[in-house]
Amino acid sequence: MKNKEIRRRLESLGRTKLVIILTLIAIAMAVGLNVLTYAIQGEVITRSSLLRSLIIPILIAPTISWYLIGLLFRLHQLEERMAKLATYDDLTGLLNRRVFLQSFNAHLKLAARKNLNISLMLIDIDHFKTINDSYGHSVGDQVLSSIGKLLRNNSRQSDVIGRVGGEEFAILLPATNLNEAKTYAEKCLKLIAHDTIDLQKTKLNYHVSIGLADYETGMSLSQLYKAADKALYQAKNNGRNRIEYYATLEPQTVS
Ligand code: GH3
Ligand code: MG
Ligand code: MG
Repeated sequence: MKNKEIRRRLESLGRTKLVIILTLIAIAMAVGLNVLTYAIQGEVITRSSLLRSLIIPILIAPTISWYLIGLLFRLHQLEERMAKLATYDDLTGLLNRRVFLQSFNAHLKLAARKNLNISLMLIDIDHFKTINDSYGHSVGDQVLSSIGKLLRNNSRQSDVIGRVGGEEFAILLPATNLNEAKTYAEKCLKLIAHDTIDLQKTKLNYHVSIGLADYETGMSLSQLYKAADKALYQAKNNGRNRIEYYATLEPQTVS
């Protein structure tokens, strides 16, 4: 059994049960050792000695094991928190840039080996600086948090979604061709445009631009990323709150 599994099973018992178990083990060991010592010396254990080997662990073991088990539980909680912080972006709950790119790389290698489709969507909030400037940074943060929730709640488990920049998001759609990705991108564009942030005196709506590109055999990660980024740039140039597709851009100059 792996260490992790042992730890999980022990933790599932809870602190009190573990303390009782450890105390019983300490008593059994103290009594056992005491009896063994007497036996080696060819004597029969005395009643007072037996009592001592019962009382001492009963007094000491629960306090020490309660403290140590508490420390171990706390350590585990901290480990889990650290792992979460290293993987996810706190504000949006999406993968951070580093983990997104790692996953992207792994998916791309698999797609190349198995000849699978992959589509990449880049999303950038339109005029986000104006939102910050007009309503304050904390409202900007609410928008980011809301878009994170929307994307998480409206994606497949197999989709890989990351916050790749301040107000930029990337969605990798494995085993998804351009047409399927278009449908999904349109759904995202609409959902986001209908999202409302409730402020004290008013309601705030916002929108995004989306660049979409699909994988072609032999493309590197940076080529596919650049292709989607070019499409996004075009979406900004063509008026924002829209989707552009790399496949339809002229000329296609990603190297
Ligand atoms: P465009 O439509 O061309 O994308 O314009 P924009 O204003 O969205 O783009 P720009 O790059 O000019 O501004 C991005 C802003 O995003 C500026 C930066 O302060 C803000 N920003 C980046 N990270 C955060 C964050 O975590 N919270 C908040 N509130 N704002 C952020
Ligand atoms: Mg941007
Ligand atoms: Mg922007």
